[in-house]
Amino acid sequence: MSDTTTCVRAPEISEEGYASLAASVHRASTIVFPNSAAYANRAERGADGYTYGLSGTPTTRKLQAAINELQTAEGTLLLPSGQAAIMLVFVSVLKPGDTVLIPDCAYPPVRSFCENFLTPRGMHHRVYNPSASTDEIALLFDKTVRLIWVETPGSTTMEMTDVSALVAKAHGRDVLVGCDNTWATPLNFKPVSVGVDFVVEALTKYPGGHSDVLMGSVSVRTRDWFLSLKSMMSMMGLGVSPDDCALVLRGLQTMPLRLRHSEKIALEFAQMMCDRISPDLVLHPALASNPEHTLWRRHFSGASGVFSIVIPDDKLSAVTAAIDCAKTFSIGASWGGTHSLLAPMSVATDRTFPWPGNTNMILRISIGLEDPDDLWRDLMPIVDAIAS
Ligand SMILES: *Cc1c(COP(=O)(O)O)cnc(C)c1O
Repeated sequence: MSDTTTCVRAPEISEEGYASLAASVHRASTIVFPNSAAYANRAERGADGYTYGLSGTPTTRKLQAAINELQTAEGTLLLPSGQAAIMLVFVSVLKPGDTVLIPDCAYPPVRSFCENFLTPRGMHHRVYNPSASTDEIALLFDKTVRLIWVETPGSTTMEMTDVSALVAKAHGRDVLVGCDNTWATPLNFKPVSVGVDFVVEALTKYPGGHSDVLMGSVSVRTRDWFLSLKSMMSMMGLGVSPDDCALVLRGLQTMPLRLRHSEKIALEFAQMMCDRISPDLVLHPALASNPEHTLWRRHFSGASGVFSIVIPDDKLSAVTAAIDCAKTFSIGASWGGTHSLLAPMSVATDRTFPWPGNTNMILRISIGLEDPDDLWRDLMPIVDAIAS
């Protein structure tokens, strides 16, 4: 071989005897084939074979397999963000004339996707009140409804939905059920096990766990939907980077420990807050005082470290000043990382069904891994400002 060719094709080396605990990063656009016939017949390799980098390398497949096993699902796909994972489900299921039902407490970009993408293309959405009974929600099922989206607990305001009761009603009317399970993670709730058809996780949050990677997953209850979503992804040119998958595979290894720690500290803090301010202001479904606690207990085996407090209007400026003095917490969106975060959220403009709490400013709190005493030193002035 000439030097020029050697530069392009580094020599084959032996991998015999090589074994490592680390996830190998396999990067590829091109996948090569042993001969012309193998290339010509590459479609025969099927959805699990390797044919082109966009549809997966061993690194992406390893993460897919891990999430799939945690979800007890029939297939899992990886998307560039949690929001992209939600979008993939909607565009795969809905056709012009169909309706999707979304909860008032949905992650806000879901509503704007419905309003600004689906509506102009003839796909409809209706917003349901997540605090309504399952029977009331089921009244919205008409012939056009194809999908109901669930987020339990709801973004920021933490409303709980009786997922298994809703699945029974929906499947009885040929309505598919999708669930954003980002708060719970598959460690605390496995929606497929109660019949949910599509489960989305923002892997950006607890699985990634270090605020440095964006990714989403969709896990599905049937192989047919797996194939259908996978083909939609390839038509849209969607895929994820193996380097990012390696980051999520690393984060996943410590997720159970991180989650248990954040759960414990968050619940302790929420309880300490209830001792000082009205428990109605503390939105955390694992609190025994929470009106939807039984629903949480029925489905979930644990909580995460994210909860919210409602800030009464007349305390807003004092609370804002206390937030701005925080030394250990940072202020910002997203959550589930090692750094604790505060996010003052104004949800009122996004809501169709206002209740006294969700028209106020709501402070979302994500507990990370810092010393709990340092964290409480930041939170105490906030709670005191509400109590005063
Ligand atoms: C963050 C989040 C998403 C979106 O995830 P990205 O990866 O940031 O797009 C979706 N749903 C919920 C509940 C989230 O908290």
